[in-house]
Amino acid sequence: MAASDREFYVGVDLGGTKILAGVFDAQLNLLATAKLSTKADRGVEAVVDRIARCVGDAVDECDLALKQVRGVGVGAPGAVDTASGRVIFAPNLPGWKDVPLKKELEERLDLPVFVGNDCNVCTLGTFDREYRCKPRHLVGIFIGTGIGGGLVINGELYEGHNLTAGEIGHMVIEVNGPKCGCGNRGCLEALASRTAIFRRIQNAVKDGQKTLLTDMLGDNLKDMRSGDLRKAIRKGDKFVQQVVEEAAEYAGIGVANLINILNPQIVVVGGGVIEALENEFMPTLIKTAKDHVMPGTMNGIEIEASKLGDHAGITGAAVLARRHVS
Ligand SMILES: [Zn+2]
Repeated sequence: MAASDREFYVGVDLGGTKILAGVFDAQLNLLATAKLSTKADRGVEAVVDRIARCVGDAVDECDLALKQVRGVGVGAPGAVDTASGRVIFAPNLPGWKDVPLKKELEERLDLPVFVGNDCNVCTLGTFDREYRCKPRHLVGIFIGTGIGGGLVINGELYEGHNLTAGEIGHMVIEVNGPKCGCGNRGCLEALASRTAIFRRIQNAVKDGQKTLLTDMLGDNLKDMRSGDLRKAIRKGDKFVQQVVEEAAEYAGIGVANLINILNPQIVVVGGGVIEALENEFMPTLIKTAKDHVMPGTMNGIEIEASKLGDHAGITGAAVLARRHVS
């Protein structure tokens, strides 16, 4: 066995509700995953313990020992000081303010740990694995419960002055639009995220709108998932199709703004909404973006759906670890 065949990396996607860990070989092929609920309400120490446990479970799943792992990468949902590996704040993790996550995990795992913002890490994953680091400039947009993003400029992740660059979801698209979790109105996240799409559907149903979704899920639509929207659209539900297309239009306007400002070669769009609704979402997004960019700015620019799906976070985190230790 060549030395490189014995190298393993672990990528961790730390979310507000779940922790996903994946073990990768030296070529970054995914070997095994493990999942745990975050239990964020139990506090910082408990969550850090659970991350370490999830890493251990994933490593155990492929019959390896922790000491065979060369490095662990973590994508965390908030502002991260990447140099020190501290999570400065994380809106979906109560009590997370200036948490030395790198240090805490290194003590528990006895392995080198590297921490980045989750959307930056997802962008790094798509840039490195899907595009083989070829585009010099790339924008990643991830549409799920919220909307996040990351910027690769001149082949490097761009983090900005306060390490918060890439907050694409909080680009204001409609000044008098719906309220966003950040306190502003009309942010892209408040118009085009899964949360925004679901809210629009639920409000319309309350006002008497007919939809196949209520036949499928009952009147309160409590357990609605993005895949249900796809099913309804494919069965001919024009209302659901219209709501999804409206969200895709808003996302397209956001992409047009990004293209005007940054002129990236690639705009890659991922996240749970795209994974479930790529065919329903992407054509409208692309058309709207093309309709709104300044003339001449679109030449040679590709807007594409990411293929990494739910694994973008762990893949990017493994890329982060491999970049640091090799
Ligand atoms: Zn916002």
